Order: sequence, then C-alpha cells, then structure tokens
Amino acid sequence: TTTLVWLRRDLRLHDHAALYHALKQSQRVIPVFIFDRAILDSLPRTDRRVDFIWQTLRELKAELQALGSDLCVRHALAAEEIPRLAQALGAQAVFTNHDYEPAAIARDAKVAASLAELGIAFHTSKDQVIFERDEVLTQAGGFFSVFTPYKNAWLKKLDPFYLQTYPVTRYQAALAPLTPEALPSLADMGFAASDIGQIGIRTGASGAEALFTDFQQRIDRYKDARDFPGVKGVSYLSVHLRFGTISIRQLAAYAWQRGTAGSMGWLNELIWRDFYHQILWHRPDAVGQSFKAQYVDLPFPNDRSLFEAWCAGQTGYPIVDAAMRQLNQTGFMHNRLRMVAASFLVKDLLVDWRWGEAYFAEKLLDFDLAANNGGWQWAASTGCDAQPYFRIFNPVSQSEKFDPEGKFIRRYVPELARLPSDALHAPWQAKPLLLASAGLRLGHDYPEPIVDHATQREKALALFKRSA
Ligand code: FAD
Repeated sequence: TTTLVWLRRDLRLHDHAALYHALKQSQRVIPVFIFDRAILDSLPRTDRRVDFIWQTLRELKAELQALGSDLCVRHALAAEEIPRLAQALGAQAVFTNHDYEPAAIARDAKVAASLAELGIAFHTSKDQVIFERDEVLTQAGGFFSVFTPYKNAWLKKLDPFYLQTYPVTRYQAALAPLTPEALPSLADMGFAASDIGQIGIRTGASGAEALFTDFQQRIDRYKDARDFPGVKGVSYLSVHLRFGTISIRQLAAYAWQRGTAGSMGWLNELIWRDFYHQILWHRPDAVGQSFKAQYVDLPFPNDRSLFEAWCAGQTGYPIVDAAMRQLNQTGFMHNRLRMVAASFLVKDLLVDWRWGEAYFAEKLLDFDLAANNGGWQWAASTGCDAQPYFRIFNPVSQSEKFDPEGKFIRRYVPELARLPSDALHAPWQAKPLLLASAGLRLGHDYPEPIVDHATQREKALALFKRSA
C-alpha cells in the first residue's frame, strides 16, 4: 500500500505520531508538505515564519534524501492539493496530526470529505500536545477554564505512557524510494529571504536540539531566572514547539523525570501550552471575541496614535519600548514583557486587546493562535485568569523588579544607555541635570511618557467596572 504523510506543525522525522502510524501500516510512505496558499497569500512578502519553514524543509529534505526517499513540497491550496496528490500518487490513505485551530479544523474536514469521495482514508493522531481536547476534564465533565485546577488534573493523569516516543526509525524502511526533487525557492512562491540567519535563529530539528542541549544546563535555575529578560533564563524553544521541530513528549519527559524545582517550573509552562490548546478546542468562539461574556463590548477609546507609538516602541515607558523593539527586531519577546506590554496597551493606552493580538500575530516568530489569544485575553482580563480586572501592571515597578540594572532596556533603547540604573525606569522623573549629563533630551532623543499611568489606571478601572 502507498500512503501520504502530510506534515504541518510537526516538521521533524523523529517521535512523530502520524509518520509512525503510516510507516507501520504501509509499504510505501511519501512525506508531503504544502505551502498552503490559504495561509501564505495574505502574509507580508518577507515573513520570518515562511523563511523558518523553508530552511527547516531544506534540512528535512536532505535527511529524507539520505534515506533514499524525499519530501514532496508543493505551493498550492492544501485543501485541494492533498486529495489531488493522494490520487495522483495512487495512495490509499493520508496520515496527519491534529491541529486545533478553527481554520485548520475546517480545512481538514474539507480534505477528509474530498478524500472520502475518492475512496482514500484519512487518519489523524494527537502529536503536538500531551493531552488534547477532552482528555483532561473537571469531575463534572466540563473543560477547565482556570489553570491551576487544570494543571493539577493534568499532572495527576500523567504517566509514562503519555510520554512514550514513537520509534519512527524502526520502521523507516517503509519510506518510499523517490527521485529527489528540488525544493521550490522562496522567490518561486513570491517571498524574500528574511533576516533570521543574521539574528541567530537556528532552524530545523538540529536547531531545536542545539537549543535544548543548551537549556538542559540551565533548566534547574529556570524558576529563578525565567522572569528576567536581561538574563538567559528561558529555553527560547517556542518557535520550535510551534513548528514541531522538537517533540513535546521529549521535552515533557525530560522535565518530569528530572523532577527538580526548575524543571518542574518549566513543565508548568508546557502545561500552560496544553491548557490554551484545549481552551481553543472548547471555545473556538473566543477567537476574536472576549472569552468572558461580560467583556464582549468593552468600549475602548482605541486612539490610533497611541497604538502606533506602542507598536514602534515609542511610548516613553522604557520597559515597554524595549519589549516592543525586541519584538520588531527579532520576532521574539520575553514572556514577562509580553505580559507587561499587553497590559500596558489595554490598561494604560485603553486600546482593544485584539489590536495588540493581531500585531503580535504578525510579528512573533512563535505565533500560535492558542497561546497568543490566551495570553492576550489573560493580560486584558477578558479571558482565563483567576485574577479580576483590577490587577493592573505598573510598568515602572515591573521594570524595577525584573530589569533592575536596566540590562535589557539598555540593549534595546540605546538612547537611554547612559542613564544610571535608578533613573532608567522612569526617566521623566530624573533631575534635568542628570538627564543632561547622560546627553539626553526628553521629547527629543526619547519621548516623554505618552500617558500618565495613574490617570490611565483609573480610566481602565472605570471602563471595566461598567461591564463587570
Ligand atoms: P519557556 O519559558 O522556555 O517555556 C517553554 C515553552 O512553554 C514555550 O516555548 C511555550 O511553548 C510554552 N509556554 C510558556 N509560557 C506559555 C504560556 N503562557 N502560554 C502558552 N505556552 C507557554 N507563546 C507562543 O508560543 N506563541 C504565542 O503567540 C504567544 N503569545 C503570547 C502573547 C502574550 C500576550 C503572552 C502574555 C504570552 C504569549 N505566549 C506565546 C506565551 C509565552 O510568552 C511564550 O511561549 C514564551 O515567552 C516563549 O519563550 P520560551 O520558549 O523561551 O519559553
């Protein structure tokens, strides 16, 4: 029998559920990737994600060609191309891994229906999370919308079975022998190469493995270091988890078996990832809409010039500006700063969280609908947060606490680099003489704060209170 394995968010050959099942059940397995025009056509022509995928596919192709097979890559509408290709290649079945995003679910339903008409089977597996859909439920049988009880139930359910590796190599003789085909170039698809090489992003399973090896040296210190953006405290694996260049089972198993405070703290974050995926599965209506019904129509003033200053990293609040400039320059933002920047947009600038969510979705290399929507709604108090809306981050105290020496601010807001640490977090409060000696003219070299935090905080409280 011949089968296709359709790769999507799982761009690796090891510990891969769909690939494993296909190899085990058929004699001739053809791996396929579609640059889906339904996604690509609306993206900017230089997109770091497209480049990341392209470079990762180059590595995958070389690996498969070394095994006498190949990766079949097309630039087309996936919903049409998969059934067409399956028929043209004489496949009896298509194997793929679950995707929980509403658009992907609709696409997969279309593919399944077209394949069924052709008499071709469609098999799907869980792969990108440890527990999916209805696997972790409350005692009453509902889904969890609060993280801590979800986490407790998740940990209670966990056993080595769920962390087992799919032994793909054992069955790899079933990969179809194929004549190597060239990878379509980025230019062929209307895209330009990005700067991911210059900013040091390593792609593919090899890039993921290198990052994970490095993080293993630091994982025990994760809990203490994870909140400080100026310190190398986190794993930086998010883009690899997004595109599946590393297996979630491998990571969760390592953290769990190690069992230190640091590694369990890290496992906690992997559980957040599962949490938001199951929220997306149960509440697809919360995409583009408040999760909590009472906040659906919050009357945000939505001042476009404030939004634009936030996007550009020109708000006059150094920690927020450093965060936004990190995002713009590197496609990454540290988790602490995602919380601070998101809170600032919603509760200081009074801009609809969906504007910020969309901006992050365009810029983040690790953009993931479940985590991004979850993170934004958490920060905006419209989503799954046990805390009520009156938790409002103070951007100055967050800065003092998590970037005390201003290491991070100095890197991304170089115009402030010469200020002493105690003046760095709120330069508008510094003595004019001090600013002058650092060669800084506020309002000229760096903006005055575009809003007053205390004033805006009151406005945000009033805005939410009306709907609460
Ligand atoms: P680590 O601290 O090393 O964590 C390990 C992994 O756990 C991450 O790679 C990620 O897969 C997962 N993880 C960590 N924190 C979270 C979380 N809060 N929610 C879900 N998964 C988590 N993460 C994304 O992957 N894509 C997004 O689009 C995204 N948007 C966000 C938007 C906002 C407003 C907020 C507050 C958070 C967002 N996050 C998102 C979560 C988190 O900030 C990133 O996953 C993390 O900063 C990535 O860095 P890391 O890989 O070094 O993380």
